[in-house]
Amino acid sequence: MSNESLANLLKEERRFAPPADLAANANVTAEAYEQAAADRLGFWAEQARRLSWAKEPTKTLDWSNPPFAKWFEDGELNVAYNCVDRHVEAGNGDRVAIHFEGEPGDSRSITYAELKDEVSKAANALLELGVRKGDRVAIYMPMIPETAIAMLAAARIGAAHSVVFGGFSADALATRIKDADAKVVITADGGYRRGQPSALKPAVDDAVAKAEGTVEHVLVVRRTGQDVAFDAERDVWWDELVGRQSAEHTPEAFDAEHPLFILYTSGTTGKPKGILHTSGGYLTQTAYTHWAVFDLKPETDVYWCTADVGWVTGHSYIVYGPLANGATQVMYEGTPDTPHQGRFWEIVEKYRVSILYTAPTAIRTFMKWGDEIPAQFDLSSLRVLGSVGEPINPEAWVWYRKNIGADRTPVVDTWWQTETGAMMISPLPGVTETKPGSAQRPLPGISATVVDDEANEVPNGGGGYLVLTEPWPSMLRTIWGDDQRFLDTYWSRFEGKYFAGDGAKKDDDGDIWLLGRVDDVMLVSGHNISTTEVESALVSHPAVAEAAVVGAADETTGQAIVAFVILRGSAAEDEKLVAELRDHVGATLGPIAKPKRVLPVAELPKTRSGKIMRRLLRDVAENRRLGDVTTLTDSTVMTLIQSKLPSSSSED
Ligand code: ATP
Ligand code: MG
Repeated sequence: MSNESLANLLKEERRFAPPADLAANANVTAEAYEQAAADRLGFWAEQARRLSWAKEPTKTLDWSNPPFAKWFEDGELNVAYNCVDRHVEAGNGDRVAIHFEGEPGDSRSITYAELKDEVSKAANALLELGVRKGDRVAIYMPMIPETAIAMLAAARIGAAHSVVFGGFSADALATRIKDADAKVVITADGGYRRGQPSALKPAVDDAVAKAEGTVEHVLVVRRTGQDVAFDAERDVWWDELVGRQSAEHTPEAFDAEHPLFILYTSGTTGKPKGILHTSGGYLTQTAYTHWAVFDLKPETDVYWCTADVGWVTGHSYIVYGPLANGATQVMYEGTPDTPHQGRFWEIVEKYRVSILYTAPTAIRTFMKWGDEIPAQFDLSSLRVLGSVGEPINPEAWVWYRKNIGADRTPVVDTWWQTETGAMMISPLPGVTETKPGSAQRPLPGISATVVDDEANEVPNGGGGYLVLTEPWPSMLRTIWGDDQRFLDTYWSRFEGKYFAGDGAKKDDDGDIWLLGRVDDVMLVSGHNISTTEVESALVSHPAVAEAAVVGAADETTGQAIVAFVILRGSAAEDEKLVAELRDHVGATLGPIAKPKRVLPVAELPKTRSGKIMRRLLRDVAENRRLGDVTTLTDSTVMTLIQSKLPSSSSED
């Protein structure tokens, strides 16, 4: 038996120094760490000065009633003014804010001056619909500029938005409308998805009926022009109502702690939680991290984050961070394989994208599709690559750097959550010598570490639980309407520390490696083994594109490792390969981590945000009825996987 919290099995020796020219001109140097360590609150007070405050804050943090934080409490600002108007006032009205690329190939570019007019008109429209400061607005939209405009319009008048991912069902939307008591829903007739118009309005009609009476109006953007039912009393067309508004709207300043939005977590581990974010601290940290981690030069960079606005990544790194920084960005409506598997690279080439931020799930898909696809495009404009959403396997990281970044572009693996609001652990591209698969160090001003079961910090080389030890500006303020769940979920496991729910280890240099969710950790013969390490070992085999492993009850070892793998295009699925993969993991990580079974599958169960839902695979491996599948992309995937597994789970 071993009493380790989490085993440290994977060794990764590859290192990549920052490019000399990037380091020489970097926005942030190594000094920032020292500065922030010497005076953490002073550091954040300084970052808050990136924003334009109607009333400058004199207080930085009130932590007298933990874990309920107040940041920049006596400051006042308007978030939309910070994201739009001030850039126009500074003479940058002609700069493009958003290059929109529709899935069918339509495109339009919106300058900051145009964005200011659109946001002002939309704000006036919401006022006409009776929305007031303190109300909630639900947003259920495709990836089009009006989505960002709607969010900013709500923020501008002090109404909190609750964006619900456009792929969710009417039921999921109804629960979220009801939970937030939304007064207005903003939607579209539909959006384009895989070459087809895909309707949204019918789900809204259904959801509004189910939510029973809280919704007074539905504001509908015309995107696809498809036929939709229209309730003359309740529904209004965006182009008609917003179109006739004045482009003048004077933004009012709100308290720094005024609610900005509610957003539900992805639902990877269970019932989604409505996370509440507020204004001043959130905008400070999203703006700072977007500028520091991507080394953003707003005059010359073209930035592209491929996330959907319906996730926190879209909130913080499509809308608030980049716009607060006056960045020029690309927004893409559709999927990466419509109409062909080179679509992303075609867009990078077209707009000369210099900073790309995407997810491991996408990177592994591109690996599976083959190196020759990105090789057909000119990707020489790229200078920083980012990753977020899941642990990135070292092999996928190296593939990304080599095939997308021409083996010269730094990759920043950014760890954070809906709850943290902004990036927390990440390399800095001009400072850090990067290690494939590691998020490395807490950003300046952030305090994170890894602890064991008794809350003791683990030494270098040890594994355990990732915790945040000091409050940070963009932290969640509570779970909407449920302070108790907020306390129980995040603050009860370790006294005085925020527990993120993720496992992690520190390497010999003290750098942090994320090891997956602690709920997914496998207990094999007394050893706690991380899903991430076994998956990364599998992905390091040339035949494997993607892997998900789970621990299934086993009579002799407690749990046995069951691996589900997606093979790369050319690999043949046979018993010889399965045996080879088991041995490969054994040789890479040691015999303890050798999977008992390896099952090649065509697809893995993923959330709508592209994360693997291991709990469902565990249900399958242990012959249980499946748990909550409402946030799953495609439920037929589970039927396919179940058919792969013989009903007894304990044979080899
Ligand atoms: P739920 O909380 O409902 O289960 P979720 O945790 O998937 O959903 P998000 O807030 O979107 O919802 O995801 C945050 C989680 O994603 C982190 O806690 C971590 O598990 C994972 N994650 C995000 N970025 C990284 C990263 N760079 N490395 C490792 N894991 C990451
Ligand atoms: Mg989570």
